[in-house]
Amino acid sequence: MHTKEIGKNIYQVELNTGGIAQLICSYIVTGSNPILVESGPTNSIPNLLSGIKELGIKPEDIRYVAVTHIHLDHGGGAGTLLKQLPNAKVIVHPRGAPHIIDPERLWLSSQSVLGFVSDIFGKPEPTPKDRVIPLTEGTIDLGDEGKLSILETVGHASHHLSFHESFNGGVFPGDAAGTYLPECDAVVPTTPPPFLLEPALTSLDKLIALNPTALYFSHFGKANNATNRLKAYKEQLKLWVKIAEEGEREGLSFEQIRDNIIAQDPIMVQVGQFVKEHRIYQKTVMENCVRGVVGYAKQKLEKTIT
Ligand SMILES: [Zn+2]
Repeated sequence: MHTKEIGKNIYQVELNTGGIAQLICSYIVTGSNPILVESGPTNSIPNLLSGIKELGIKPEDIRYVAVTHIHLDHGGGAGTLLKQLPNAKVIVHPRGAPHIIDPERLWLSSQSVLGFVSDIFGKPEPTPKDRVIPLTEGTIDLGDEGKLSILETVGHASHHLSFHESFNGGVFPGDAAGTYLPECDAVVPTTPPPFLLEPALTSLDKLIALNPTALYFSHFGKANNATNRLKAYKEQLKLWVKIAEEGEREGLSFEQIRDNIIAQDPIMVQVGQFVKEHRIYQKTVMENCVRGVVGYAKQKLEKTIT
């Protein structure tokens, strides 16, 4: 079984990318116009297709695949997926669209940033230009009186979208609200370079204003208590940046700043060991996301000096 019903007309698909459970999922919002949220990476498209089959949805009935952003683990598989969905188009932020159409540069930069993780995710295939719909706002009719609203939520990336579904009032935040660790019921930051704090906080305010009933994390799964989680995530981002700024001012090394984050963020005190030992998060969270806040802190410090 790949799929799990998590709300009215909403199913989570466990992508089991690289054989790793509870790392990445896609979502299918069913109704008379079924829509997919997140293609996930190239290498787990067969699992996503099994999930679609399991739900009895015909591939030709899917008209949209909405991706929160183009990072390999969210939209990387779009080109491969569309070969199997003859009537589907991809909804993506306009700044991400060129890289879905021609993913060569995206692949090269992902390889340098993600290292071995990029091989677990797989190389993206191009998506034909006429099957890409660049959007930053609007609504998609899901049928059965349901709709999916599109929101621009930059910060994690300059080309990030979130989606709000009307059947249950839940939000698909992509990477805008952190990584949810269902094993620990905790959220950790998703802040790889070039991370920008202010737009990330503004995006979180946008999501808080919706007062969502649930968050459907791409990493990983549904979490309740959505508004409080979003508010807590804002505080966690500010705390990481504060620790990074203090570290930069004191001339600490990257490793020292990372250790300070693990020691001073109460959530990291709780889940640090789990994250450090995780096959993927040891690289994406413990290295790239710390680098993102350190890079942001450095830039801010340089601006105050000059
Ligand atoms: Zn991302």
